[in-house]
Amino acid sequence: MRPTVLCFSGLDPSGGAGLQADIEAIGQSGAHAAIACTALTVQNSQQVFGFTATPKDLLLAQANAVVQDLPITCVKSGMLGTTDNIAALAVFLREHPNYLYVLDPVLVANSGGSLGNQETLVKAFVELIPLATLITPNTVELRALTGEQDLEQAAQKLFAMGAQAVLVKGGHEDTPDFIRNALYIKGELISASQCPRLDGEYHGSGCSLASYIAGRLALGDDLKVAVHHAEVWLFGALTSAETPVPNGQKIPKRF
Ligand code: PLP
Repeated sequence: MRPTVLCFSGLDPSGGAGLQADIEAIGQSGAHAAIACTALTVQNSQQVFGFTATPKDLLLAQANAVVQDLPITCVKSGMLGTTDNIAALAVFLREHPNYLYVLDPVLVANSGGSLGNQETLVKAFVELIPLATLITPNTVELRALTGEQDLEQAAQKLFAMGAQAVLVKGGHEDTPDFIRNALYIKGELISASQCPRLDGEYHGSGCSLASYIAGRLALGDDLKVAVHHAEVWLFGALTSAETPVPNGQKIPKRF
């Protein structure tokens, strides 16, 4: 069986973000996706209306059930919803120190809707940061996690908090013509990639990128290679993204 990524992620009924994005991206990467569902959200491509988080015992029961019979080599987390779920994931990761782990520190949806209490989530993420092989914050999340406004200082603060590698995603920066991502490993800038900025907003682009990276890591890629593969693949999925309604965010066409 293909190497498996176990995703801790929430259900987005629009199919743009969350666990569906993870399943599609990981499938495209060549690996298999398993899901421990962290929350049921109520949203469409334009707005988050609310969510109910999975109780932590049920979340861990899902994860522990698949650990017994799937060849999991990597864990990926997206929306975790509550500090209880973050603490439960930290326990799970400490029980499985051999798993690679991609932490996408989701705080709010791209549409601006709440996916948890930002202040308490930020504090709880501190426990997950040293456990991650790679952290993939956008610049809003990076600033919120570190309290630093300057991006270089913020990245270095994340390393001071125990990070091993960080991919800073530049989509929220004021660069009208391009998006620049920067990959740091052990505090050192390893590579910076730049792609043209596409028009519009995209629902689930961050989930898709982090999951594709996790899939490639599960298959044995080196981190820098996995990130490069994922960026190239995501650009294609965004170029052919579909617009559900004129005001809706575009949904990446992942296959
Ligand atoms: N996870 C869930 C369940 C979501 O609903 C969202 C956004 O709506 C996200 C994660 C983050 O999505 P993005 O990849 O757009 O940052």
